[in-house]
Amino acid sequence: MKELIRKNILNITPYVGGKPIEETKRQLGLKEVIKLASNENPLGPSPRAIEAIKKCAEGVNRYPDSQGFYLKRKLAKTLGVASGEIVLGNGSDELIDIIIKTFVEPDENIVTAETTFLEYKIIAEVNSRKVISVPLKYFKYDLEAIKGKIDKKTKLVFIANPNNPTGTYVTKYELQDFMSGLPEQVVVVLDEAYDTFVDVIDFPNSRGLANKNVIILKTFSKAYGLAGLRLGYAIANSEFVSYMERARQPFNVNSLAQAAGIAALDDKKFLERSRKLVLEGKDYLCNILKKMGVPYVPSVANFILVDAGRDGSSVFNQLLRTGVIVRDMQQYGLKNFIRVTIGTRKENERFIKALKKIL
Ligand SMILES: *Cc1c(COP(=O)(O)O)cnc(C)c1O
Repeated sequence: MKELIRKNILNITPYVGGKPIEETKRQLGLKEVIKLASNENPLGPSPRAIEAIKKCAEGVNRYPDSQGFYLKRKLAKTLGVASGEIVLGNGSDELIDIIIKTFVEPDENIVTAETTFLEYKIIAEVNSRKVISVPLKYFKYDLEAIKGKIDKKTKLVFIANPNNPTGTYVTKYELQDFMSGLPEQVVVVLDEAYDTFVDVIDFPNSRGLANKNVIILKTFSKAYGLAGLRLGYAIANSEFVSYMERARQPFNVNSLAQAAGIAALDDKKFLERSRKLVLEGKDYLCNILKKMGVPYVPSVANFILVDAGRDGSSVFNQLLRTGVIVRDMQQYGLKNFIRVTIGTRKENERFIKALKKIL
């Protein structure tokens, strides 16, 4: 049947997500499994979001609002932009697809880092678009080198800031330098999935850039604890938005997600609690890793890239057998690393206990 399939599809390595808790319990016969593998919120969803989902459930015989009117109005008010500067997506994953479909012609290319969010490359390949990957420098996006790879056919640049899986970030100065003198045909996508957790003063304020050739991506999957609902959004100038709307499926964001998103935006307490948990958990984990002599990449996100000093996949498997799911970094080409999401205090302690036994 292979000959029926498009060549670009044959060449794709499918995305492997974090291993699910249920699957791990089933396969290994374990009762207590914790997942620190997908940068999810360990506190669960905001209680207000759960309430909103329950209320909304009765109406799921109807199609969702294809315009997402109320959610966009709420977002616009919260962010200080116009509703017409927002595109809603079925997670920011879908927005990556919409952006590529909207902007990149078949003979044009996309530039991004070599070790970054895998979906940029996979979605580009599904769309038969060429990706130029630029190596990181000291685990960071090398914006100078990326600029050097931009050619006449470059249409998009994806920058995950903070970067996944490294947790590093580009500073406002680096971004300023990068943006100045960029060829006019280049659209820059700043994927800020983890910006809520950032606690450094030189992180860029991207919103000042959104009226230029810049698109900002945000998600409800991480800090807001709504990964299972699939909700993200893009902020861009209204003209870009109007064209991206043409590439969007009309009912891409379901009604439960819209209702939950509105409620979650109101739950400032939950967001603050989530942020605090991550910052405290990160302190705890980093201090212990230091004491253990285990190197890691300093992170401004809700996860840490840990240098296991030996085959990361085997460390991943050993942790798995103790009921601790972290992320194997094989697919990212980081052989000796694992990525661990910051969990609750209890989960962090359990991870450390298991890691100590293994290393
Ligand atoms: C998790 C993540 C996303 C979020 O994807 P969703 O589709 O919104 O769940 C986007 N970008 C990066 C870099 C991520 O790590």
